[in-house]
Amino acid sequence: MELQEKIDKTFEERFGGHGAVYASAGRINLIGEHTDYNGGFVFPGAIDKVIMAEIRPNETDKVRVFSIDINDYAEFGLNEEDAPEASWARYIFGVAREVLKRGGVVKGFDAVFAGNVPLGAGLSSSAALESCFAFAINDMFNDNTIDKFELARIGQSTEHNYCGVNCGIMDQFASVMGQKGKLMRLDCRSMEFEYFPFEPKDYELVLVDSRVKHELADSPYNKRRQSCERVAKRLGIETLRDATMEMLEAVKTDITAEDYFRAKFVIEEKDRVLAVCDALNAGDYETVGRKMYETHRGLSKDYEVSCEELDFLNDLARECGVTGSRIMGGGFGGCTINLVKKELLPHFLEEVRARFNDKYGHEPQIYEVIISDGARKVCDAAR
Ligand code: ADP
Ligand code: MG
Repeated sequence: MELQEKIDKTFEERFGGHGAVYASAGRINLIGEHTDYNGGFVFPGAIDKVIMAEIRPNETDKVRVFSIDINDYAEFGLNEEDAPEASWARYIFGVAREVLKRGGVVKGFDAVFAGNVPLGAGLSSSAALESCFAFAINDMFNDNTIDKFELARIGQSTEHNYCGVNCGIMDQFASVMGQKGKLMRLDCRSMEFEYFPFEPKDYELVLVDSRVKHELADSPYNKRRQSCERVAKRLGIETLRDATMEMLEAVKTDITAEDYFRAKFVIEEKDRVLAVCDALNAGDYETVGRKMYETHRGLSKDYEVSCEELDFLNDLARECGVTGSRIMGGGFGGCTINLVKKELLPHFLEEVRARFNDKYGHEPQIYEVIISDGARKVCDAAR
């Protein structure tokens, strides 16, 4: 059954009648990895996988919400002490609280929601969930007076304050601001952003989820951050955003080899994002693909956040003639993102499934994605 049909039917059964329908999307990041905490650029876009919710004010001070996918119901008030137990409901509670904290209006409502963003696969189902409800609350109770970027911040604060996830702004930003056929370059220092065309007619974007996650003993993420901070300090700048390779070479003998390679990756990655912007404006997807391979190499060899399975997927992509391929996300497992010529796709998918399975004993999960609209109203209650 179609997502909207399923939600409509369930809403009618649970609450009677209908509410308005809203949706928001998961996201990919084409290039720009480990750049956010260095004041650099990320390059995300919203995808054609969404969380969709039917919502109707209920004239009470309670939120009553049913999750179709988890088959669970939650009910909560809008005061701090009313936080629900269920973790999925805390995303919605958090969004409502964060709107109220900012002086916005939230009243009681009934809601039913479901989605097709895979959970925990690196496509940000949680950001889609937050953005969907933030957008809906803005539309239903605030005449859309809350700025869209602020809706993304509301989602981010929800993760920080109610879900224990200390994330950056990229996921919620992409989910809220995404547009069909466009990627966004977000400057993580100034928060300025710009849209770039992404309509690769002859190519598909395909995510290959290795379904492995390597938990390492000492926090590798924090160690990477510390390396970047040390080098920036040595260079007398706030973040590596302002560093060049010449500056880095000049201090090479004063810093450890490890810090050198970490900084080298960050500096080169910033330049790669800018090169991809030019390439997209020129419709040159071959260059985009080459930059993706370069990013993978940097993440694997210089930043050292890859793992055997992801390097295997990257090698396989290259061998199959895939245009671009790299780790997407923090690393140590999860997905690769691949830009694949349409005519190559069936062969690539067949190879990836069979050969990954041969080597690691399970098939990777494949997701084909199309760059699509972010948060939006799907239809009014009257229908
Ligand atoms: P992701 O990388 O997909 O964002 P997270 O662990 O951050 O992974 O978020 C996943 C959580 O978001 C789920 O455990 C659940 O609480 C909530 N969630 C996401 N999608 C749905 C859904 N379709 N229905 C209910 N809850 C969802
Ligand atoms: Mg998440």
